[in-house]
Order: sequence, then C-alpha cells, then structure tokens
Amino acid sequence: MARKLPVLETSGALRHDGSRRVIHPADVHGRFNTARKALFYALVAIMLSLPWIKINGNPAVLLDIPARRFFLFGGTFNAQDGAMLFFVLIAIAWALVTITTLAGRVWCGWSCPQTVFLEGLFRPIERLVLGNANKRIAQDTQPATAGLVVKKAIVHVLWFAAAALVAHAVVSFFVPPQTLARFIPRGPSSSPTTFLWSAAFTGVIYFNFAWFREQTCLIVCPYGRLQSALVDKDSLTVGYDKRRGEPRGKAADKEKSPESFGDCVDCKRCVVVCPTGIDIRNGPQLDCIGCTACIDACDEVMDKLHRPRGLVRYDSLNGLDGDKKRIVRPRVLAYALAGLALFSAGTCAFRARKDFVANVLRVQGAPYTLEGDTVRNAFELHVVNKRNDTSVYLIEPVAQGTVRFVVPLTRISLGPFADARAPVFVVSQRGNPAGDFVAQLRVRRDGAPANETITVSAPCLAPGR
Ligand code: SF4
Ligand code: SF4
Repeated sequence: MARKLPVLETSGALRHDGSRRVIHPADVHGRFNTARKALFYALVAIMLSLPWIKINGNPAVLLDIPARRFFLFGGTFNAQDGAMLFFVLIAIAWALVTITTLAGRVWCGWSCPQTVFLEGLFRPIERLVLGNANKRIAQDTQPATAGLVVKKAIVHVLWFAAAALVAHAVVSFFVPPQTLARFIPRGPSSSPTTFLWSAAFTGVIYFNFAWFREQTCLIVCPYGRLQSALVDKDSLTVGYDKRRGEPRGKAADKEKSPESFGDCVDCKRCVVVCPTGIDIRNGPQLDCIGCTACIDACDEVMDKLHRPRGLVRYDSLNGLDGDKKRIVRPRVLAYALAGLALFSAGTCAFRARKDFVANVLRVQGAPYTLEGDTVRNAFELHVVNKRNDTSVYLIEPVAQGTVRFVVPLTRISLGPFADARAPVFVVSQRGNPAGDFVAQLRVRRDGAPANETITVSAPCLAPGR
C-alpha cells in the first residue's frame, strides 16, 4: 500500500513539481493601496531629486569614491571619517530591527526599492501594454500571435528604458548628475568606468524587475529570512482573523445559517492579489512581504457583503487570537535603550569630528642631528583639508621652556579635500631637559576657533657632555 505523504506548505511562487509559477497579481484598490502608491511616488521623487539638491553649496548626497569625498546632508567627509560609517551602518541595522519588532515587514511592503519600483513602475508598464492580470495569465498560455509578440517587445523596451533611468539615478549618487548628463551624449568613451557601472546596474535592474521579481524577496534578500527571528506575537503583521472567518462558506450559506459559518466566503480575492502568490489564511508565512494588498482586497469583499472590514487586517498575532496586545515589552525597551546609547555615542563622535586632520610623523633616516649644543629632530606635518573649499591652515608652535618647534612654513593653503606635508623640527639643548619630554604644535583653520594640538612624545636627545 502506497504510503501517504504529508502535505507541506510551499512557496506560492512554486508549482508542486518545483518549477516556477509566474505570478500576475490582480489589481487592487483601497486605502492601503492608495497610501502606498502615494509613498512610492514620493520616495521615487526624493531619490531622483536628492543628487541635484545643494546644501551649503555641496550636493545633498554624493559618494565620490575615487576621490574619497562624501557629502551627506550638508556634512563633508573623507576617508579619515571611516569610523562614522560604523555608526551609520549600526544605526540602519538598529532601525530595521526595531521597526521589524514593532511593525513586522512594513519596510518590505512600503518602502523597499524592490517593492517601490516593481509596484510603482515596472508592473504598471506591463499592465498598461498587456492588460490586467487575467489577460496576462491567459497570454502566458496562448500561442504567440504577431500582435502579442509586438506588445511583449514593447513592454521589454519600456522596461529596459525604465531600468536605464533607475540605474542612472543610482549612479548619480556616485557621480555628480551634472557630470553624468555631460557624459551621456558623448558616449561610453567619455568615461568608460561610469559607462560600465551604468550598464551593469541597468542589466541587473532589468533582469530583476523583468524576470526575477518576487524571487529577490523569497530567495536573495537576507532581511526576509532574518525577520522571523525579530518578530514576536506582539509585532504588527498582516494577518487573517481565523476566529471570525472560519468555517468558510458562501454568502448565501451564511445567510441561511449564520451560526454555522464565518465571514470568509472563500472568494480567494486575497490570494489572487498577492504578489508572492500565498494564501494569508494559512497563517504567518515567510513569503509575506506585508504589502497589504490582501487587506484592501478583503475589505472590498466585506464592503460588498455589508460585513465589517478587517477580516484580513494589520494586527499582532495576539490580537488576531483575541489575546491582550502589548506594544511596550521587554525587547522593545531593550532596543530603545540600545538606540539611545547608539544615538549618544554617534552624537559625541560627530561633535568631536573636525573638518581637517593634522598629524606629525618622524622622517625616515637619522633620528636627530647635532648642531653645536643644539639637538634638532626632524618631523613631517601632514594636514588634510576635509572641506569642499580652499582653506588656509595656520601652524603655531606652543611655547614650552627650552624646547622649540621650528616651523619653516606657518601657513598652508589647501584646495577642497587636498592634503599637504610640511617639514617641522623640534629643537632642544643638548642634555636639557635631561629625560623624555613632549613638544606641542597647534594647527588651526584660518578664521575658525577649532584647532588641533599635536603632541610629539619623547623626541631624541643627544646625551649631555
Ligand atoms: S499575504 Fe497579503 S500582505 Fe502578504 S504579500 Fe500577500 S498580499 Fe501582501
Ligand atoms: S478575500 Fe476575504 S473573504 Fe475572500 S477568501 Fe480572502 S479572507 Fe476570505
């Protein structure tokens, strides 16, 4: 007798034989869809305009990696500010963890670029040319006619153009958009590196949105896999109210016997609108990106049946089970404390940051030279201008007994993000002072109060006579 195999839930994007099921989610209308679309277009507008916006004469966002210059919302940074990157990355990770704990995959459904561009740009192009989901599903199984081939070709040309637009928007965070606009009409030879990056981004974006689509969320994205470890029964999620919906039955059945049936009429509208092809009624699933399409779809059905909305809704698992809901809980308090500590450390690091770097290194070769009774130690002062303008730096020795810093060059003018080296000498009397000593030099930007005091420990002393 054949053994009965267990029925396993699998990804909605897979057929039972393991092959991929192309998903064409049905159109949905509703309050969440309207709000999401408004947010998508606002985010795209911000992304396209950010590289063009100037703050204090500098780009609002520009990551000029070859020149190691970084502009972020009015601040200018260079490679020496790499430690700040630590705080930025930790802050992003902390924000994602905290938001996921509180509101589940709200990032995925509302603001991830994958969702924003797929639902806000690429899917609408497909819908415009090929028709609604039912038509597209039928077209996938129909024999190819000349008209359909032409339509599909048009979709791919438009997708490719959209991918090129998005790719150039991405590249303009690394190459000033004004420069990029000059490169484009001149062709690849004007900047082969920029061209190769733009072409690579265009190819990846086209592949992702024209073919790979929800597979990125289901297979590639590490956040999607991680989020199940971050949520608990109090995290907000998109869920189906089993207590209210079950047992399922037709609307007429419920009218005849209201006690025997729940509110779900098994119309499957929540399933056909799902971009990852899952049935939310099967409970929380890794494939759910929290897009809220099933909420709008079910609300529409409930409105038609004159039943209350919210059979599928934003709620916690505790809320859906009818248990007490909690927003403030130990892990949220722990994240809040961690966030506060992180914010304080980041603020201190940012406030301690100077807009130039100065340090002194001993030059190679003989550690000191003797000139009669005088011992002369040679050093090299290295000054880095972290500003995006020309600045003059003043170098001032700090008086300290018989030890002197001799500075041949007391003013150094540096262009934007430029650096320079200048010789400096520590001069002392032979054998005086008798032991180790320190010598100090002050460097400051002309017109600015902030300065850097550099201490040179234990310059060499020739032994006394
Ligand atoms: S189950 Fe609902 S919220 Fe989750 S991905 Fe599908 S439609 Fe979106
Ligand atoms: S849309 Fe609502 S009523 Fe229809 S199957 Fe889904 S949960 Fe049931």
